[in-house]
Amino acid sequence: MDAAACGLTSARISSQARQVIERLQDAGYTAYLVGGCVRDLVLGREPKDFDVVTQARPEEIRQIFRNARLIGRRFRLAHVHFGREIIEVATYRAAPSLVPDDSDANVFGTVEEDAFRRDFTVNALYYDPEAGLVRDYVGGFQDLADGLLRVVGDPEERFREDPVRMLRAVRFAAKLGLRLTPDSAALVPRLGHLLSGVAPARLFEEMLKLFHAGNAVATYEALCEHRLFEVLFPSVAAVLGTESDPDSLLLQALRNSDRRIAENKPVTPAFLFAALLWEPVREEALHAIAEGMVPVEAWQKAAERVLREQLQIVTIPKRFSVPMREIWSLQSRFDRRSGRQAFRFLESKRFRAAYDFLGLRVGAGELEPELFEWWTRFQEVEPAEREVLVQGLSGQGEKRVRRKRRRRASSG
Ligand code: ATP
Ligand code: MG
Repeated sequence: MDAAACGLTSARISSQARQVIERLQDAGYTAYLVGGCVRDLVLGREPKDFDVVTQARPEEIRQIFRNARLIGRRFRLAHVHFGREIIEVATYRAAPSLVPDDSDANVFGTVEEDAFRRDFTVNALYYDPEAGLVRDYVGGFQDLADGLLRVVGDPEERFREDPVRMLRAVRFAAKLGLRLTPDSAALVPRLGHLLSGVAPARLFEEMLKLFHAGNAVATYEALCEHRLFEVLFPSVAAVLGTESDPDSLLLQALRNSDRRIAENKPVTPAFLFAALLWEPVREEALHAIAEGMVPVEAWQKAAERVLREQLQIVTIPKRFSVPMREIWSLQSRFDRRSGRQAFRFLESKRFRAAYDFLGLRVGAGELEPELFEWWTRFQEVEPAEREVLVQGLSGQGEKRVRRKRRRRASSG
């Protein structure tokens, strides 16, 4: 197919990717851009990165590029480094079902075989910018034009073979505004439970792609609609129920993080998971407190239990789960403002995240806004005025302390 007829020109391709294709072709191998970058170019979107596939074997790729490193064990592929930019170069692969053993000879295939092992037709377009042509073995271009996300091959077989494809389906549908074909959409609620058999570490990577790509709200709603959210976060789904409340802490958090990403501000998985898991933790803690447990202990036990259950499904690396729990446990520090306590808290490393989280709780109607407003002022005013703010409260605080002391004294 003519690339220009697909709306493709080489103008928006990174010069490094073009250089890689040119050098492979000069060495006598066929080579194409493939996957998300071609799909995004056809849709008129900015590709995240450029992936190349070629007939050349990994060892041959390494001989052509001095700046290439081979990675991966089972399916080796090459990373060609240009300063900070990396172009991933893979060799055409045959579908796994055609591979009786792991030897390279059987793993690698033709460009056509490579197309049939890809997940969706829109991800299986091969673009040769040098020749100005597109190879489309599975009808991906027509599907893109029709706004359809279609599984390559038999959807049930492909979802069973790799259940993560269901998450990818929901992600691409939400991100690109494509409609999943009805037959596949109907399978997702039925086969979604298979995700519980996927390695939790891989699912963590998928969670970041789902929730940290700038369209978390749409993605969350699509996950709920396809009944995948309840498989990934059963304890959260049990508390939140089916109707999604736009003022809920979780939706506010997702909306905020979409906005931050649009503004190129950083986002952290610690905050994301703190918001995702908060409702079941809160419900369990409040329940335990109502039953008479000491609050500190109730919150800690609830956090531990919810986290333990969640980790069975999705890994949350310690470097994120530790600050996540800190965001939760620091919520009680906002009440302690007298003396130097407010000043010390403000200086602490995790203050900002805990404060933002407090803001979400207020927005969700969990707390009256006064406390949050006080802390907002405390940050905004000149340091000298902070003393005044603290003194403004200390009347109440001191009274409370004195009353307690007196009671203790009289009972003693
Ligand atoms: P994104 O813009 O999110 O990077 P992408 O389509 O490039 O989208 P990648 O995860 O980078 O997604 O994968 C690159 C390509 O590899 C896909 O376009 C698809 O052709 C193929 N692919 C990735 N994961 C799978 C899978 N689980 N099963 C089959 N093919 C896959
Ligand atoms: Mg990609």
